[in-house]
Amino acid sequence: MSIYLELLFYFLSLRELQVRTAPVHITRSGNRELERAKAAALQVTGVEPQTKSIWSSLRKRKKGTLTQKFSAFAWKALHEGHKVGKYWKHIDEDRYRCQPCNSNIESLEHILQECRVSGQETVWNLAREAWAKTGLEWTEVTLELVLGIGTVEIKNRNGKVSDGRTRLFKILITESAYLIWLLRCEWRIGREQNTLQIHTKKEIEARWKTAITRRLRLDWALTSKFTFGKKALRTAEVERTWNGLVADNKRDSLRDDLVGEGVLVGSARQRRPPGRNR
Ligand SMILES: [Zn+2]
Repeated sequence: MSIYLELLFYFLSLRELQVRTAPVHITRSGNRELERAKAAALQVTGVEPQTKSIWSSLRKRKKGTLTQKFSAFAWKALHEGHKVGKYWKHIDEDRYRCQPCNSNIESLEHILQECRVSGQETVWNLAREAWAKTGLEWTEVTLELVLGIGTVEIKNRNGKVSDGRTRLFKILITESAYLIWLLRCEWRIGREQNTLQIHTKKEIEARWKTAITRRLRLDWALTSKFTFGKKALRTAEVERTWNGLVADNKRDSLRDDLVGEGVLVGSARQRRPPGRNR
């Protein structure tokens, strides 16, 4: 989605012409994904979010932190509405399994945490390396954390909730998860599951950088008082969000990003042994 379309969605949501990702209805209690998302948020923040906060975080998309596309993806996942894994059980055995991984079921969990063809390992490495620049601890990313992300808050070293770091964490997790989902769909559908056409590491790195740089630009666009009035993002909050991730020599001129090339700091080379989601 273009940056302008995302801005338009934000603008419309402010005008209370809520662009809803799906019809709002009360979910039956005992929704498995929802309960697990709550538990994941509890693990990161120490506080269990209420069911309604998970839904409203996806619907309201405060400060434009979660994009319209991610929210729609998460909403559908919480309703177990994606055509993955179980959905195909009695329809198409080929689509039920993930053959390249020899996995019995191609669930969202498999796609986001284990799969060798979805690019998840490369993407989460990039997210973790970017987060390392904040000096804060990284946490293992699970499907449940991705779905409960709207309610997560990040504390700085003094134990105080940091608005900038919370925003950055949400951006990194949601953009990364959504990219993995896109890569999976492109390979499964667009590339017809051809194992010779699995996205290369280079390709994935370029896509991830583009996605994050786009968010950096979007954030600056959202600071426009001219367009958003009192609802504009505060410049200081945007600075607190991206502080450390933007090259030092550009720190004073972050706004150049709106017109210039992205200036995300190149990521450090991988130092850890390869493995699952570490
Ligand atoms: Zn797989």
